[in-house]
Amino acid sequence: MKLFRWGAPGREQPGVVIEDGSWRDVSRFGEDIDERFFGSDGLDRLRAWVAKSGSACPTIDPTSPSLRIGPPIVRPSKLVCVGLNYRDHAAEANLPIPTEPILFLKATTAISGPYDAVQLPAGSRKLDWEAELAVVIGRRARDVSAASALDHVAGYCMHNDYSERELQLEHGGQWCKGKSHDTFSPLGPWLVTSDEVDPHRLEICLSVNGRQMQRGSTATMIFDVAALVSYISRFMTLLPGDVISTGTPAGVALGRTPAPFLRPGDVVQLAITGLGEACQRVAPLEAPAGEEP
Ligand code: ZN
Repeated sequence: MKLFRWGAPGREQPGVVIEDGSWRDVSRFGEDIDERFFGSDGLDRLRAWVAKSGSACPTIDPTSPSLRIGPPIVRPSKLVCVGLNYRDHAAEANLPIPTEPILFLKATTAISGPYDAVQLPAGSRKLDWEAELAVVIGRRARDVSAASALDHVAGYCMHNDYSERELQLEHGGQWCKGKSHDTFSPLGPWLVTSDEVDPHRLEICLSVNGRQMQRGSTATMIFDVAALVSYISRFMTLLPGDVISTGTPAGVALGRTPAPFLRPGDVVQLAITGLGEACQRVAPLEAPAGEEP
C-alpha cells in the first residue's frame, strides 16, 4: 500500500494509491498518518477500509499544478539519521569507515513535502544534497534484537537529507546545526508499506539541473535496516511514526572538487526504486521562510 498526504502545510489530508493506480482522498477514514494511527494497527485497518471503500473515494490528479503533496506522515517524535553508512560516501568525505553506526538527530521541523522548495539559510554558501532511504517505525521499539527489528517497521519513504556543510562542519559540534533548517528534510511522495519493499535492493538516484550526481544501491549499506533499528533502539525508544534515515551513497557536492554546492534556482530531482520521485527547487536567499507547519 502507498500512502501520501496532500493539502496545505499543516492541513494535509491522507490519501492512498489504490490497486488500479489511482490516487484517492481517504480523509473519510477519519485518521491522519500519525503516531496514534501506527500504534493502533492503523495500517491494517486502513487497508481493510480501502479494500471496501477505496474505489468510492474521490480521485486526486497527481499531475494537477494546484496539488501540493505533503510529507507522507505527520511530524514524528524523532528523525534519527545515520552518518557515513556507505563506504564510498565515507571515502569521499575523507572519513574512516565507521565500526558502529554514527547517529545524529535532525529537528523534525525540517520535514517538508517532496516537491516543496528547499530554503537556503541566510548567508548559506554550502548547501548539499543526500538522497536516502528512510524507514518509518510502525511498532514501538525499545532494545529490540536485529532478528525481530523488521517487525517494528511500517514502511519506507524517500528522504533528501539536505545539509549545510559550513554549519555542519565549521561551527563545532554537532552535525544537527547544518541539518535542521526548515525544509531540509523533504519526505515522500509516498510511504510504501514494508510488504512491498525489499530495503536492500533499491537503486538511489539524484540529479541536479538534469546532471546525475548520485547513483547507488541500498545493497551496499554498511549497517542494514534491521541492524540500525536494533542498534538505535538500545539508546532510545522508537515510537510509531518515527523516522530513521539510513545514510547516503557517494556523489554529494562535498566529495567533488570544486564542490558544486546548491545555488538559488537549482533543481534537485531524486528517485528510489518503488518509492517514487521527488523534486525540490532551491529557493532564492531573499525568499521568505516556509509557512508554519
Ligand atoms: Zn544523511
